[in-house]
Amino acid sequence: MIEMDYTSDQQSIAAFVNKLAKTYDRAYWVRKAENNEYFLHEMWDEIAKNGYFGMVIPEEYGGSNLRYSDLIVFLEELAKHGIITLHFISFFMDCILVMHGDEKLKRNFLPKMSSGTYFSFAITEPNAGSNTFEITTRAVRDGDFYRITGQKLFMTGGDESEYMVLVTRTIPHDEVDDKRSGLSLFVVDSHSDGITMQPQDVEVFTPERQYTVFFDDVKVPAENIIGEENKGFDYLFDGLNLERIVIAAYSIGLGKYALEKGIKYAKERNIFGDPIGAYQAVQHPLTRAYIKLHLASLAIKLQQGP
Ligand SMILES: Cc1cc2nc3c(=O)[nH]c(=O)nc-3n(C[C@H](O)[C@H](O)[C@H](O)COP(=O)(O)OP(=O)(O)OC[C@H]3O[C@@H](n4cnc5c(N)ncnc54)[C@H](O)[C@@H]3O)c2cc1C
Repeated sequence: MIEMDYTSDQQSIAAFVNKLAKTYDRAYWVRKAENNEYFLHEMWDEIAKNGYFGMVIPEEYGGSNLRYSDLIVFLEELAKHGIITLHFISFFMDCILVMHGDEKLKRNFLPKMSSGTYFSFAITEPNAGSNTFEITTRAVRDGDFYRITGQKLFMTGGDESEYMVLVTRTIPHDEVDDKRSGLSLFVVDSHSDGITMQPQDVEVFTPERQYTVFFDDVKVPAENIIGEENKGFDYLFDGLNLERIVIAAYSIGLGKYALEKGIKYAKERNIFGDPIGAYQAVQHPLTRAYIKLHLASLAIKLQQGP
């Protein structure tokens, strides 16, 4: 399964994932999903023990300072084994903090991220999905704190997370001409007073869960703001751009997982004396899938992560 053009770091990453997948394989993943377990704790802990959650975090904060292209290899390799979950988007929270957190925030939270503490992400609201500008969750400064009130939706692993990166408005939408202005990002303890969560019935078969989250006058230390007040939009896109690349890596990996299963079946299934893979009607769609995946892999290699 190891790709020929991997660097030596990337070959080590792929070898680690191959070894991991011998214990935590697709059957483990399916069992968790079937049993309504919402976090792959054992697998997550093994990844943490081996230091992979610090991949794109600088060494002074407990990470190993690898490149985004190495992270992509890690995620694609997991997906190639069919053992990926959306909890891994925790990685793009790292990069928002690395790029925009002040020194104190980095010292407080990056070592936690490096050691595998799960950070969820709260941006979507009932009336602000694709259109982030419409966010109404409000953070108001009150001395050494901000007080936060509002509602988020679809938050993956909200209750399973220790912290979340929360997107708020510090200036309401209708009070700014440039709608990119007035957004602020915070690191929030997911179990702070005033936060309540309700699981959502999202019909996706995975060992994870989405939540509706209510914020009722939640007090967050002012030092937990990421970067400067009102400038969160730019910080956000440094994370969301990486998220797109991360999701693409998942998708390519899962595509390769599905294709490999298809090829295996085409070689095994025998009806008229030959395996069905001997017939062009079966070979052609498999070949088309291979070409599309290969093109997508090339496209992702051209990515310029932040
Ligand atoms: C499994 C899952 C996990 C998720 N995890 C998280 C999470 O951890 N944290 C979080 O905050 N959110 C999460 N989300 C929410 C996700 O980010 C939103 O669903 C997404 O941003 C889209 O918002 P929406 O559902 O409100 O769709 P809408 O914004 O209402 O869009 C509906 C449809 O219209 C299309 N559309 C919208 N605007 C345009 C346009 N201008 N031009 C053309 N088409 C358009 C969209 O592409 C979409 O197909 C998750 C969602 C799912 C399904």
